[in-house]
Amino acid sequence: MERERLVESINVLRREREAVILAHNYQPPEIQDLADFVGDSLGLARKAAETEARVVVFCGVHFMAETSAILNPDKVTLLPEPRAGCPLADTVTPEGIRTLRRLHPGAAVVTYVNSTAAVKAESDYCCTSGNAVEVVRSIEAPEIIFTPDGNLGRYVERETGRRLIIWEGCCPIHDRIRPEDVRRLKDEHPGALVVAHPECRPEVLELADEVASTSGMFRVVEDSGREEFIVLTESGMGYPLGKRFPDRRFHFPSPEPLCPDMKVVTLEKVERSLREMEPRITVPEETRLRALRAVERMLAVG
Ligand code: SF4
Repeated sequence: MERERLVESINVLRREREAVILAHNYQPPEIQDLADFVGDSLGLARKAAETEARVVVFCGVHFMAETSAILNPDKVTLLPEPRAGCPLADTVTPEGIRTLRRLHPGAAVVTYVNSTAAVKAESDYCCTSGNAVEVVRSIEAPEIIFTPDGNLGRYVERETGRRLIIWEGCCPIHDRIRPEDVRRLKDEHPGALVVAHPECRPEVLELADEVASTSGMFRVVEDSGREEFIVLTESGMGYPLGKRFPDRRFHFPSPEPLCPDMKVVTLEKVERSLREMEPRITVPEETRLRALRAVERMLAVG
């Protein structure tokens, strides 16, 4: 009953505020059900760029709302739980990028979208897991610095054949998945297709049939014609996959790869943020303009 009341109140408020609600694939089911659009970082950034809404409620983590604020300086960007961070984004600092640039003059800097606005502002290009390979392929600079996800960087090296100068950060949720977890799942489900997110370790990706971003995983399931899948990413992905493909079976590693930062948004917090129009995410204009260049290059590729 409380849930119905909250959803009703959110629906009234979102109309009044002319708000759009965007949610990442790893968000809790009740948040995904509420959202106008559910997707991965690239899809959400695209939606944020094209929306005509006056208010963007971002159900995800801090860097995602910042990316929306970079793209939409004239709109209000709300992050219902401002403490939702990303340990991967926290591994790299603007000073770290400047140091690498000094060591490698002439190198292009490609930064995964899982990074702060201040780090994006120091970068030449942003990318997501969905277009990192295409972004690197599009660059002619003799050297490329890739930050902050080392596993994604090594995957891009494998796919492009280019040697990258890699910042050794990682997503603790994906990095925790081990080859033995995958082998065990394969023994238990011998007919399953293995689909892995590129934030997983290289030795895990070696065991995968397909490597894909969360949005790419929908395409893999659609196109494969298979009924059973081993999915190597954050376990929240089980909800949108099961919703879209109710007749297929999805298996995740044990212990469950669960990102606590992705689970802190609740209906209560969405309702409160729309009612109070807080907490707002803003980016200083000078930082925003520099970060925008890198984000726009990301959106222009693939
Ligand atoms: Fe960051 Fe990993 Fe959580 Fe995504 S799943 S928000 S990359 S810690």
